[in-house]
Parts: sequence; C-alpha cells; structure tokens
Amino acid sequence: MTDAILVLNAGSSSLKFAVYPNEAGAPSPFLRGKIVGIGSDPVLSARDETGRPLPQDDLIQLDPGASHDALISVLLDWLDGHQGGVSVTAAGHRVVHGGTGRTGPARVTDALLAELDDLVPLAPLHQPHNLAAIRSVAARVPGLAQVACFDTSFHRTQDRMAQMFALPRALTEAGIIRYGFHGLSYDYIASTLPQHLGDRAEGRVIAAHLGNGASMCAMRGRRSVATSMGLTALDGLMMGRRSGAIDPGVLLHLVEERGMTVDAVKHLLYEESGLLGVSGISNDVRVLEASDAPEAAEALDLFAYRAAWEVGALATSIAGLDAIVFTAGIGENSARVRGAICARLGWLGVTLDPAANERHATRISTAASRVDVLVVPTDEEGVIARATHALGVTGRR
Ligand code: AMP
Repeated sequence: MTDAILVLNAGSSSLKFAVYPNEAGAPSPFLRGKIVGIGSDPVLSARDETGRPLPQDDLIQLDPGASHDALISVLLDWLDGHQGGVSVTAAGHRVVHGGTGRTGPARVTDALLAELDDLVPLAPLHQPHNLAAIRSVAARVPGLAQVACFDTSFHRTQDRMAQMFALPRALTEAGIIRYGFHGLSYDYIASTLPQHLGDRAEGRVIAAHLGNGASMCAMRGRRSVATSMGLTALDGLMMGRRSGAIDPGVLLHLVEERGMTVDAVKHLLYEESGLLGVSGISNDVRVLEASDAPEAAEALDLFAYRAAWEVGALATSIAGLDAIVFTAGIGENSARVRGAICARLGWLGVTLDPAANERHATRISTAASRVDVLVVPTDEEGVIARATHALGVTGRR
C-alpha cells in the first residue's frame, strides 16, 4: 500500500482529484484525474505521474445517474485497488469560500462545516458541492483527517478599502464585500516569485489567472493588495462564459424593460456572456484563434482590452508595476492573448519579446523591459496537498 494524500476539487458536474505521496513538500501527484458528466453519464479518466492517460482497463465504468456521494465512494474503492493499493491518509479539499474569518487552510471539524454552511448563500454554485464532498469522504472513512483550503483566504491581507463596495454601511457590515477568488492559484504563484524575480519578488506584481474563470491579483511583498473579483466570481475580467464587470444599470434594465427573471439574468451573466457571448462561437480561446470569423477576433480583442484595463486599475492599488505573471489555461497557452494584452501596456513599461512569447518561455519580456513578464503554470492541487500534509497527517484509515 502507498500512503497518499487525496486532493479533491468537487464541482457541480465534475470531480477532479489528484493523489500525492504522503510526504512533506511532495512536488507532484502520482495520479491525477477527473470524473465528468456527474448527474448524467459520468466518466472517469486519469493520468499517471508522467501525464500519460491510464489505459481503459485500469479504469472503471460508472453508473449513469450516480450521485456525487456514490461516486466518491467508487473513487475511494478504485484507489484502494489501484496498483497495489493507495491508502488515503488525509484528504484536502478546494473550498471556494472561507468568508472573512478564514485566512488560511483549516482542519475540518463539525464546527468548521457549520461555519462554511453559513457561507453557502455567498457561493451557491460551488460551496454546496465542496462541502458535500467533505461530508461524503467523512461518511465513507470516519475519522480521516480532512483539510479545507479556501479560494478567498489569500485576499484577506487586503486593506479594508480594497474590500469595500460603496454601499450603505449596514450591507458592508453584513458581509457584502469583495472577497476575491483564485486564491490557491495566487498562493502558488506568490511562492514561485523569488526563484524567477529575486528581490523584485517582494515588489509590485500583478498575477493574471486567465482560465475559463479569469481574475487578476495585485501583490506587494507577495501578499494580496487588490483583486478583480468581488463578492462573487462574476466581477472583473471578461471570462469564457461570464461577463465580468458590467454596469449594474444593465441588470436593472434587463429586469425592468425586458422583463427578464432573476434566473434568466443569472444564466445570461454566468453562462451566455464573455468570449462565448461576444463571439457567438465558443468560450474556448483555441477555437476562437482558429476561426476566421470577425466576431471571434473581436471577442479576443475585447478580452485583451478588458484585461489590460484591469492591469491599469490594479497597478494603481500597488502604485506601479515591476512584474506581470500569466497563468492558467489561457495565460499559459495563448501567445496571442498575452501579446494583445502586453501591447496595450507599453506605457507602464512592458516590452514583450515576441519570440519568447511564441515559445511560451518563462520570461517573455525583453531584457530592457522595465516590467518583467512571466509565464508560470499554476498548481492549485499542489498548494492543497502541501497544506493537507502540514495540517492533516495524523488521520489513518
Ligand atoms: P482553465 O480554466 O485554466 O483550465 O483554462 C481553460 C481555457 O484555457 C480553455 O477554455 C481555453 O480557452 C484555454 N486554453 C487551453 N489550452 C489552450 C491553448 N493551447 N491555446 C489557447 N488557449 C488554451
């Protein structure tokens, strides 16, 4: 049996997992995979430590319509029997919301679960699935050490000013504030800055997490000073399907003049907008880059315009800019999007090296550029695995 830490990221229709050796600072998982299509036709896929997909024979058939709960049991059983057996000694979970109180990862207790239940109204699309996964594991393996790692924690270093909306005070006091998200990704990026930037790592850095969900974080001293997402993950940048920041008057107009229901507006903003809505073609940058349609090009241009705009705004919060770090699916892979963003940032001291950008080099700015521009693959699961090892090593099946 191999002692292991199981990292889980439970969404509405998917369950992503990664399995790490139970060692301090274990750098990479020996197994990584996902179950997609939960609720309809779930399918398990997994890759070994080299990134090679496991052959179909090593996987299992999942029952159509199986619940999240049942699938977590199936996953644990499968791990038990995988390659001589994987003994899960602790589980770490991505939990979207830790409220104002959670400034770092926390060992799961009944009291913590109750506290996190209270935050469901702040993240109704994600939090229930994250918490259900914790409860499923606890039911299946009573007493197993579990650790919750929050997407909001990294931003709790921000000044009050950066977290406030200009709303009546009572709403602020009731928790209607900017929480920010993608904190596990920013935590990882912050941890890598010294190796790339030396002393400048402690300076003024903007990390751009550009994936299907997209946000930016302005850091100083490798701590969050401001971020583009707010109360929800809808604010800030244009995203794959989400609108990002929008005049709140548009929402009033849609309801009052067009008679849209709240659910219809929600669907419009979360599912039908962003790259998909503007292009009318796809939310996927790969598809848009391959398309000749002018709408595809316009969607990519708007994405870059909005991102560059946000860099300008965030640079104000840290009084200048020493480095930009691109990460996540688009940030790591799209030279075109990075190029279009950086082309708008010459006034801030950004000079891109086009050849380095094309080959996705770690440093894509010229030697003369006042601002260092980096491409750093993110590793949210690694952050969770290390936190889980640090806080949860004692539990045993
Ligand atoms: P993430 O949410 O971080 O997994 O990012 C997913 C998104 O990254 C996809 O929807 C694509 O838009 C984008 N992406 C992934 N691979 C590439 C690629 N090779 N080139 C351009 N965009 C990519």
